[in-house]
Amino acid sequence: MSDTKGHSSTSSMAHYHPETRLVHAGTLRSDFGEMSESLFLTQGFTYDSAEECEARFKGEKPGFLYSRFSNPTVAMFERRMAALEGAEAGRATATGMAAMTTAMLAPLQAGDHVVAAKALFGSCRYVIETLLPRYGITSTLVDGGDLDAWRKAMRPNTKTCFLESPTNPTLDVVDIAEVAKIAHQAGARLVVDNVFATPLWQSPLELGADVVVYSATKHIDGQGRCLGGVILSTEQFITEHIHTFFRQTGPSISPFNAWVLLKGLETLGIRVKAQTESAAKIADVLASHPKVTRLIYPGRADHPQADIVKKQMRAGSTMIGFEVKGGKEGAFRALNGFRLARISNNLGDAKTIVTHPATTTHQRLTPEARAELGIGDGFIRFSIGLEHVDDLIEDVKGALEKV
Ligand SMILES: *Cc1c(COP(=O)(O)O)cnc(C)c1O
Repeated sequence: MSDTKGHSSTSSMAHYHPETRLVHAGTLRSDFGEMSESLFLTQGFTYDSAEECEARFKGEKPGFLYSRFSNPTVAMFERRMAALEGAEAGRATATGMAAMTTAMLAPLQAGDHVVAAKALFGSCRYVIETLLPRYGITSTLVDGGDLDAWRKAMRPNTKTCFLESPTNPTLDVVDIAEVAKIAHQAGARLVVDNVFATPLWQSPLELGADVVVYSATKHIDGQGRCLGGVILSTEQFITEHIHTFFRQTGPSISPFNAWVLLKGLETLGIRVKAQTESAAKIADVLASHPKVTRLIYPGRADHPQADIVKKQMRAGSTMIGFEVKGGKEGAFRALNGFRLARISNNLGDAKTIVTHPATTTHQRLTPEARAELGIGDGFIRFSIGLEHVDDLIEDVKGALEKV
């Protein structure tokens, strides 16, 4: 699939900094020369002749065919994401879960085996632990930080490894380069869910991963408006595994949502930088607070995998994890005590959000499984927004007084 009009191609943007690519990469301009990216709300396209139509369907001529698998606005979003990530190609999906499920399911078949780190976003864990096995694709969950456990879990039929880093919600960091080596030695590919790190702070493909997936719902939109996702990889992986699956099953994104996300990308750099700076300051306040029993922030020297953070991330995170005294009651008192931060289950938003994972995103897990992952009843996930950091510090101090 390609366009017929001129565009800033991915390769010609490669030498620019990420901030520049976020504003310009992948733009397709029509003959009108519009400045802002156009929203092509069209299901299909017309052809000048039956011969032209045939040639496009055969892939002999470039051009768009049908918005289930090719649309100019969606293509702009995919190209900008690919340029940002340093990927050859990408496909945008309706949600982050559609991206993850497609990246897992499309290249696999009954008899294949998957190894994944067990600390995962609840729905990702469902896909690996429950959904894939229903179709004969078995899976093994390991402690992501235990490289020997990854090695031991590999089987001759292991085709895909999957991990999230930093993990949701405990912000553990997994060594992507080492897991990629283990996967490749076993002839498997590594898929990384890079949502928590954001494309700004971590580039899994450079570290050796083969596929990167995002929920664009999070930082990429960053303003709580729409859902979306994206799969990024080599041209070969996308053509061989993703394109046909996409064309035939349709986990596609609406051009409208792709357009919102495309405009979101223009400000991703400044938003994530500001949110990370504030998060670092708030983490320092929490670290010495008497009501806080545990603090996890990837930007601090006391993070359990601080050495890996240094090796594979360019900065800390917009996310903080902390545990308060008093278990669930303590956590609920804190949540109800915030004035500015909103109780919700999204993250990466301009608005600061507090989440209680044990009763929301991870309530499906048994208490034992939660304990194993370090998600205690007093654990709070904190997504830092764009408010002034002093107001947020005042807010968190006030909330902790209620604990
Ligand atoms: C939110 C999230 C997803 C799912 O994304 P949706 O857009 O909500 O479908 C997947 N992985 C991680 C790490 C997430 O935070």
